[in-house]
Amino acid sequence: MPRKPVSKKGSTQKIMDVLINRENGWLKVNESERKRIFSFCDHYRNFLSDVKTERQANRRGIDLAEKNGFKNLNYFIDQKKRLSPGDKVYVTISDKTLILVAIGKNSLESGMRIIGGHTDSPRLDLKPRPLYEDGEMGLLDTHYYGGIKKYQWVTIPLALHGVVSKKNGDQISISIGENSSDPVFNITDLLPHLGKDQAGKKLNEGISGEGLNVLFASIPQKNKEAGERIKLNAMELLYQTYGIVEDDLVSAELELVPAGPARDSGIDRSMILGYGQDDRVSVYTGLQALLHQKKIPAATSVCILTDKEEIGSVGSTGMYSFLFENVMAEIINLTTRDYSDLILRRCLKNSKMLSADVNALHDPNYPEVSSPNNNMAKLNHGLILTKYVGARGKSGSNDAHAEYLAELRKIFDDANVIWQTGEIGKVDQGGGGTIAFMMARYEMDVVDCGIGLLSMHAPWEISGKLDIYMAYKGYKAFYDS
Ligand code: MN
Ligand code: MN
Repeated sequence: MPRKPVSKKGSTQKIMDVLINRENGWLKVNESERKRIFSFCDHYRNFLSDVKTERQANRRGIDLAEKNGFKNLNYFIDQKKRLSPGDKVYVTISDKTLILVAIGKNSLESGMRIIGGHTDSPRLDLKPRPLYEDGEMGLLDTHYYGGIKKYQWVTIPLALHGVVSKKNGDQISISIGENSSDPVFNITDLLPHLGKDQAGKKLNEGISGEGLNVLFASIPQKNKEAGERIKLNAMELLYQTYGIVEDDLVSAELELVPAGPARDSGIDRSMILGYGQDDRVSVYTGLQALLHQKKIPAATSVCILTDKEEIGSVGSTGMYSFLFENVMAEIINLTTRDYSDLILRRCLKNSKMLSADVNALHDPNYPEVSSPNNNMAKLNHGLILTKYVGARGKSGSNDAHAEYLAELRKIFDDANVIWQTGEIGKVDQGGGGTIAFMMARYEMDVVDCGIGLLSMHAPWEISGKLDIYMAYKGYKAFYDS
């Protein structure tokens, strides 16, 4: 049976309003909000320049949390101190994944508000035996991490960050290439004059994974007896500066990332060009939304900054592990009289989550891959709600519920958040995944909700300042809901 038509006076005006809503966000913000956008993004740009790895994101997150009254959960566990509304705690897992929890007024059983982003970004990792000599040069062998377009990583200045763990338990931090007085590193490419064969290859074959070898040194040691004298000289420098020998590199995590700071981009300074915005733009906005919370929230607020998303969220610091359940079990144990598995399950099931990850923006250089008819997210059109990701018929996607999306529309509209919808490109073009489906296993409502990027996964990614600020504003409104 067809439904009777609903006739309402003034409905044309409402329809017009919705159309007007699809304007560039800059046309909708007033002068004071415009100032807040630029000032917020100055801080974000500095954060992005300082934080180049998952460990650095974790460290910075802890520093900011402690400054804002968060305590390590271990303190409560060790002291057998109970947690009550207003208490703020954090848990750090292997220096890579960080979970912040602000205990709300409502019981944990009634659910939490969770925002989850990831701290890891695509990069080049050193192999366990990285250093070798070839063609009278000292080189570093790498294995790339995450989905990169390999040709983008040659000829750009690279910085080396990470840790070396020694057998005696000492850990040495290394960070070379960010200060203007530091040396940087580089992967060479063929000159076009000799690039005929290379130019005939497919784009994804022109530079191979095993071809990503970093030029590291070129001065030989003077000792004529020694073999591989350039490598030896480089190892000597590493020993003198960091006290490490070649075998120590076996127990190291050293990452090559684009060197140098993030920058304002565009003559109007409306954008940010920087490395690792997937997903540190969500890390920063989610973190700030929680840290700027003024009142004790009704529902407990949680910010998850997880590792390993770019390689499938596996590993003990990835969202596919039981880390979140373990943390919540500890917290429930400190908030309730009688811990039970049922409380934990209800707490997770009744929670609502925004999976804060980046999405693709419409790129006029590649319009052929965009989802048509206003279904592709646009730069400066605000925070993106992505109902589903996945590929080939939404496969592997969480596909959020209509009811949950309606709730979020209301939360964002009530808080004057500029938001839009998005899809990862047109149907059957490709696709992607986030941590949303892993959290949905607990039966909680979760949807992808993040910022759009141009050149995602490239050494330098572009984001829009208005979109960044709207994410922060939206995340705050979500915590307060
Ligand atoms: Mn991501
Ligand atoms: Mn990614």
